Amino acid sequence: GKMEPTDLNGLVKEFVNLSFHGMRAGKNPINVDMEFDLDDSIGDVPLIAEDFSRVIINLCNNAFDAMREKLNSNDQAPNSKDYKPKLTVRTYKKNQATFIEIEDNGPGISPDIKEKILQPFFTTKKGTEGTGLGLSITNDIIKAHGGFLEVSTNQHEGTCLTIKLSPGG
Ligand code: ADP
Ligand code: MG
Repeated sequence: GKMEPTDLNGLVKEFVNLSFHGMRAGKNPINVDMEFDLDDSIGDVPLIAEDFSRVIINLCNNAFDAMREKLNSNDQAPNSKDYKPKLTVRTYKKNQATFIEIEDNGPGISPDIKEKILQPFFTTKKGTEGTGLGLSITNDIIKAHGGFLEVSTNQHEGTCLTIKLSPGG
């Protein structure tokens, strides 16, 4: 694919929804409260749409897996009956740069694991569930766009993956 002006919000909505519906139609569907907070003023952003759509899918798939794990885990908080998975997807502009955030309220990532998650083949998923390639490929695609991927996580609140795209890379 080649870099072309792309309706970023449209692409984000399309592929978040594709991941969501794939998860719902898959083996272990969970209920997720989906929230979109997209800045309408963003418009077209230069992207390799084919590649960037993979980024959105990978990050959403990871978020759904993480929230399913929290839902199924035994060491949940005492009031975990009240746990309701939620995915929040945001786009916004700040100082010319465009940001995309995919935030879950899953289990979070412990500090020792966090430093490894971008490595190819690193996975905490059992058996054939995870290849450990998703985030490594995601990070490569973002870098090829001249962008930056930031992981912020808190073991009680969840995880937020932030993509920063700067004009001119
Ligand atoms: P895979 O999904 O195949 O395991 P990834 O490269 O996509 O490989 O992710 C690597 C690891 O990073 C996952 O196995 C998981 O431990 C961790 N991870 C990724 N995203 C999240 C998230 N949103 N919440 C908690 N852990 C995550
Ligand atoms: Mg993955």
